[in-house]
Amino acid sequence: MTAEEQILTTYQNIEIGNALKVVRPTLGNDAGVALYRLLRLVALEDIIGRGASGAAYLAGKKLGVSLGLKKLEDFLQLCADLKIGIIEVPVATEARIHVDVYECITCSGLETVGRPICHFEGGLIAGAVESITGSRVRAREITCIGGLGDEACGFDLDLG
Ligand SMILES: [Zn+2]
Repeated sequence: MTAEEQILTTYQNIEIGNALKVVRPTLGNDAGVALYRLLRLVALEDIIGRGASGAAYLAGKKLGVSLGLKKLEDFLQLCADLKIGIIEVPVATEARIHVDVYECITCSGLETVGRPICHFEGGLIAGAVESITGSRVRAREITCIGGLGDEACGFDLDLG
């Protein structure tokens, strides 16, 4: 077996539970928002370009579904634990849900860039709500703090 074949046969995805095992005796569990933003907004966009938006949405969606959440409260708790932002859900009917994210981790404080940029969060919300409701969910970001200069990052969720 060549070295390349060995890498291919031993390659395994890193599970969520494993990724969240943090042992940093000195630095602990917290890191700055800056690190996440540099990875998401600068490094990923630099390599993938415009496609970074779609990739970030799909990554968030897949992650959101795989969390296997059963209740809205669990999702809100997750957002609180991860400090994604301050989440409000002003509209929740069978056909439509609207989620607002204040102090968004991705964009709050940015100089406006002229386009919504919180695709990872949109995907994560869509995936979590899909898992909770059992309906197919698509999220559209219609307001964005750093992207468009809004007060909150607002996501319209279409169910069905
Ligand atoms: Zn945002």
